[in-house]
Amino acid sequence: MSDIYIHPTAEVSSKASIGDGTKIWNQAQVREGAIVGEGCIISKNVYIDENVSIGSHVKIQNNVNVYHGVTVEDDVFLGPSMTFTNDMFPRAFNNEWRVSETVVKKGASIGANATIRCGVTIGRYATVGCGSVVTKDVPEYALVVGNPAHQIGWVCECGFKLNDGVCPECGKKYSMKGE
Ligand SMILES: [Zn+2]
Repeated sequence: MSDIYIHPTAEVSSKASIGDGTKIWNQAQVREGAIVGEGCIISKNVYIDENVSIGSHVKIQNNVNVYHGVTVEDDVFLGPSMTFTNDMFPRAFNNEWRVSETVVKKGASIGANATIRCGVTIGRYATVGCGSVVTKDVPEYALVVGNPAHQIGWVCECGFKLNDGVCPECGKKYSMKGE
């Protein structure tokens, strides 16, 4: 292990794999079989379930649970207290979880306190506004907000909302259909 920081109060399984330069903060837990890439920030109170795969340069803010069945690709931002689920038909008296797979694609951002229903895919560089409840797939580069979340525009790779297909921040141009 080189250049990895694990806070003394974090609980990281010896059967988890942690990439170089990743920092794991207070009271975070990383379960057995989990794979966390390079240069990630795993903040306070984050839970990474068994066999979950997290890409590189991912930022996970405080109080996020990444449950079994969720896959997080490179460069993803998970805002504070956002919530994943993993069973579409939960009952306390069922013995087994029936996990539906959820994928957060490269570069996507999920705002604070958003909820992502299991079984959906969040497209590359999409942004989910804070407090949104996502119940269906989010197209790449889409900006979605509300409950249930609906698309209100497109975002640049740099994160800013496009104005007629042009990023007001970095000037990058896009040709998007279906806005
Ligand atoms: Zn931009």
